[in-house]
This record gives sequence, C-alpha cells and structure tokens, in this order.
Amino acid sequence: MANKHILIVPGDGIGQEVTAVGKKVLDAIAKKFNHQFTYDSALIGHIAIEATGTPLPEITLQKMKAADAVLFGAVGHPKYDNDPTAKVRPEQGLLKMRKELGLYANIRPIKLFDELLDASSIKPEILKGADILFFRELTGDIYFGEKGRKNNGDTAYDVAEYSRYEIERIARKAFEAACNRKKKLCSVDKANVIETSRLWREVVQQVATDYPDVAVEHQFVDATAMLLIKDPKRFDVVVTANLFGDILTDEASQIAGSMGMLASASIGDGTGVYEPIHGSAHDITGKGIANPLASVLSVALMLDISFGMLSEANAIIGAVDEVLKAGYRTRDIANAATVSNKILGTEQMGNEVLKYLSAL
Ligand code: NAD
Repeated sequence: MANKHILIVPGDGIGQEVTAVGKKVLDAIAKKFNHQFTYDSALIGHIAIEATGTPLPEITLQKMKAADAVLFGAVGHPKYDNDPTAKVRPEQGLLKMRKELGLYANIRPIKLFDELLDASSIKPEILKGADILFFRELTGDIYFGEKGRKNNGDTAYDVAEYSRYEIERIARKAFEAACNRKKKLCSVDKANVIETSRLWREVVQQVATDYPDVAVEHQFVDATAMLLIKDPKRFDVVVTANLFGDILTDEASQIAGSMGMLASASIGDGTGVYEPIHGSAHDITGKGIANPLASVLSVALMLDISFGMLSEANAIIGAVDEVLKAGYRTRDIANAATVSNKILGTEQMGNEVLKYLSAL
C-alpha cells in the first residue's frame, strides 16, 4: 500500500481527452493493488494563456514541484501554429516546465505490440522484434540557446549549446539502462560538422569507459534516420541530443504503428512528468476518436519509474495487449484490410482497458 499524489495537467486539444482515460486507469490500479492515489489538476498551454495570460502559471509550477508525479497531456493551438509572430505561445509553457523541473532526460520506449504488425507502413518482417529505448536530452541544445533576428529581421539565428555535465548525466542514464537490456548503446550526433556534437561524442566516449560491458556505436544522425526504417532491430538503447531526439522519436513512432501508441517519461532532478509523445492534434480534437493508449502507457511508465511499481505497470501493459489481441482498435491503428478490427472511440477504448485490468 502506497500513498501518492498525482498532478493531472491535461493541457490542450486531445490532451484533455486522453488524460481523462489515464486517470481512470490510475484509479483502477489503486483499487486493484490497494494503493491510495490523490489528485489535483492544473493549467498549461493555450488554455492557461486564455485563463491567466501565461502558458505556465506559477501555481501550476508549484503544484508540479509538490506532486509525486505529473500526468501530462499536450499543448498547442492552431492560432499559434499559423502565427509565427505571436510573443506568448503554448509551447513556451512546456519548455519552461522542463527547465524549472530539471527534466533533462526524456525516455521513450519504442516497442511494437505484435497485434499491430499490420498497422505500420513498414513491412512486418522488418519490424517484428524491434524494441528500442530512446534517451533524448531535454534541457539543452538549439531550443534553449540564444535566438533572435538581425539585419532588420531578414536574418534569424538559434544558438545550440551543450555543456560537458549536461551530456554526461544523460549518457550515464542511457548506459545504466543498456546494462539492464541487451548491453548495446548507439549515440547519435553530427560530429563531422557540428561542434556541440564533437563535445557530445567526446563525453560519451569518456563515460563509456565506466561501462565496459556495453557495446557502443557512434552514428551520424542522417545515417540513424535511414537505419531506423531499414533495420530497426539493430538498435537497443539510443541516446541523442534534444533536436535530433525530437525528430528521430517521431520517425520511430511509425515502428510502433502510430503516434497514439507512444508514451514518454521526462525525468531529472525532481518530479517526473509522463506524457504521450503526440501533440494536441487539432484535426481530431473534440471528435472522441483520439487513441488514449499512449496516455495509458504513460501511466505504466509513471508507476514503474517514479513509484517503483513494476507489477502494476506490467498489469497495464498486459491489459493493453489483451485489448489489442481482442481486435479493438482506435481509427489510427486500424488496418482497413483486417475486417475483424472493432473500431472504438477514446472513451470506449479506455473502458476496454479497464475491463481487462479488473479481470487480471
Ligand atoms: P500531433 O501529434 O498533434 O498530430 C500529428 C498527427 O497524428 C495528426 O494527424 C493527429 O490527428 C495524429 N494523432 C496524434 N495523436 C493521436 C492520437 N492519440 N490518436 C489518433 N491520432 C493521433 O502533431 P501536430 O499536428 O504536428 O501538432 C498539433 C499541435 O500539437 C501543434 O500546436 C504542436 O505545436 C503541438 N504539439 C505539442 C506537443 C506536446 O505537447 N508535447 C508535441 C507535438 C506537437
């Protein structure tokens, strides 16, 4: 029996819809395993700008720091996507949250449920058995460096910066994970042209000497982009910088069938934040068709990483597996060629997971 306080931060768009399912799963786990979970909620993103004028209100930050873990949805609104001149933007809330909470490691497991082999646009024989754990650095790089315009606004610049300690701490997390897996680590950079990448490679090579059992490979990011699709099974743990990780993990989402299937954990010095890798998906917001499984699997990551509740996490993964085996699909993971698929909306998909969870 454990007592945990969880902050739910749904944010914008389908973030609201999928975290509602995530919370029900937390409730089901508390009941089944006799834990006590208490909840609070807070605003971030567009919804926070509308209510308070800022994308990350101070009260949200305080509640995050006080919680045992945060279940996060997504931020974003079409209004800002089409207005590059907007000074206050939803994603500023996300970046500030990462910086303020010291969330320097974004962990993204990329694993295909066997039942979804036919839902990916990649051939099943290439995909089967792929199991990758991504470590994306989250608080440095071009996203956080100096940025601006000069020459009357006709020239723009973004400075990429990394310090030795920032690279070392994420590298160590990745090496430790590799020790508990297949003992293979691929570090991705662009050391042939970028100075921050040269420091990245130097530091990873140094850290590697502390983990002699782990086989280390250094790859240029362009090669990784190609190899992820050509031969995803060659990867075990992948560690990379913020920008490269952002792009490669979205690409890798196709290995798992859909963005709607991929969960992530952001961890660091304080409270861990657990969220789907997808955004607020304006195109399907309010239609009740978003896939909630990435949020459900984010809950499993929270239980495992922040609370050390491995059996509880495995119960969730097992329930998702059973639901998929039974043929239930949201639209994004349905295969038009498979007539046995039973297409469900967000809430119904959540209810199927709850049914299997209570039956375990
Ligand atoms: P997106 O991830 O929101 O959507 C990309 C595509 O995937 C869309 O067609 C969408 O319908 C589909 N999709 C995403 N999640 C799904 C789910 N759970 N079920 C079914 N289909 C799903 O990315 P985008 O369209 O590039 O961006 C939309 C907004 O989200 C933008 O404002 C962007 O800034 C924001 N965004 C936020 C985050 C975040 O909060 N972490 C991440 C990425 C994008």
